Formats: sequence, C-alpha cells, structure tokens
Amino acid sequence: MSSILSHSIDEYIKMVTSFHGYPAPGVLIGGFMVDLAYTKLPKDGLYEVICETAKCLPDAIQLLTPCSTGNQRLKVIDTGRYAFTLYEKRSGEGVRVYLDWTLLDEWPEIKGWFLKLTPKEAQDEGVLIREIKEAGSDICGMEKVQVKLDSLNKRKKSSISICPSCNEAYRTSDGALCPACKGSVLPYGRMSKTPSKRHKSA
Ligand code: ZN
Repeated sequence: MSSILSHSIDEYIKMVTSFHGYPAPGVLIGGFMVDLAYTKLPKDGLYEVICETAKCLPDAIQLLTPCSTGNQRLKVIDTGRYAFTLYEKRSGEGVRVYLDWTLLDEWPEIKGWFLKLTPKEAQDEGVLIREIKEAGSDICGMEKVQVKLDSLNKRKKSSISICPSCNEAYRTSDGALCPACKGSVLPYGRMSKTPSKRHKSA
C-alpha cells in the first residue's frame, strides 16, 4: 500500500482523527492530493497554498505542509471545488490538484459520497475508507498553474489605532472605526465587557 509523504496510511488516519476530530473522508483524500502535488514539485522550493474549499481539505494541508491559515501561507478562496494549488512563493509556479469526478466510476462509494448521490444514512463508512485507501491519488487530476503573485493583494502593513467605539486595537488602514463597529461583519452585537483584571480575581 502506498503512503502519504513520510507517513503510512494508518499513521495519517491517526493524525487526522486527532486534529480534525474524526477520520473524515475528505481529509483522507486530501492527504493523497498533497502527496501527489509534492511529488511534482522541486524539493527545495518555498511553497504556499491556495485552497478552493473551506471544508476538510485545509486540514490535510495544515497537517502535511508548513502552510497554515495562521502563518498565512494557506489561503482559502472558497469556490466550492475540491482542489488546491501548491505554488512556489517567489516564482508563482505550481500545480493544482483536484478530485476528478470523471475518474470515480471504479469507486462507487467515493462517487456516492463526493457527488452526494448516496444519502448520509446509506453510506458505508468502512467501504468508503477502504476505497479511499485503495484509490490513493488515482482519483485526482492535476494541472500546471502560474499564480499571479501581485493579484494575491497581500495586506499592507498598517499602524494600529484604538477604536473609539469598542476601545480595542485595530488596523488604522481600516478607517476611523474598527470593521466590527463600522458594520455588521460579526454575528453578535456589543458585549458588556469585564476588564481582564477582574476575571482573574473572580
Ligand atoms: Zn470597534
């Protein structure tokens, strides 16, 4: 049986379970996708990733590459397609790997899961995981990509202001109020704040 970068499949399933909460089919397939992308690129590159879905795939990338949302080397641009592009940070040269539904006829359980043809309660998780292990990266398509680096609009460095409305620090470049106070970007309203020193004595 194949492996995922330096990990055996079973090792990788354990990593996924610990990080993601359970061995989600999408994260397992994502492991093979990352493995495939790495085999096509020079070993000495400095890589970043654009992931096209917010679901499952970012966790495979964060488990197997140095790219995370926190270090900003992983960007999610959610097109809803099960795909990511791994590219060299300075040259923009990279590969896009995607789950190719046209290759799924051999793998009925994966096809039913991926295209949501099989209702959740009718899915056989054991068969699904077995098919995923057997298929490996055979169900993936790949294409060369040249990333337009200037279009990634890296956030400009900004000084910090204190918002006159919420009294929290934010980027001055965002305007006279922080984005939260300016508009309804957050799904909750103003909180009644307790200064942190009082939390400690409570
Ligand atoms: Zn504010």
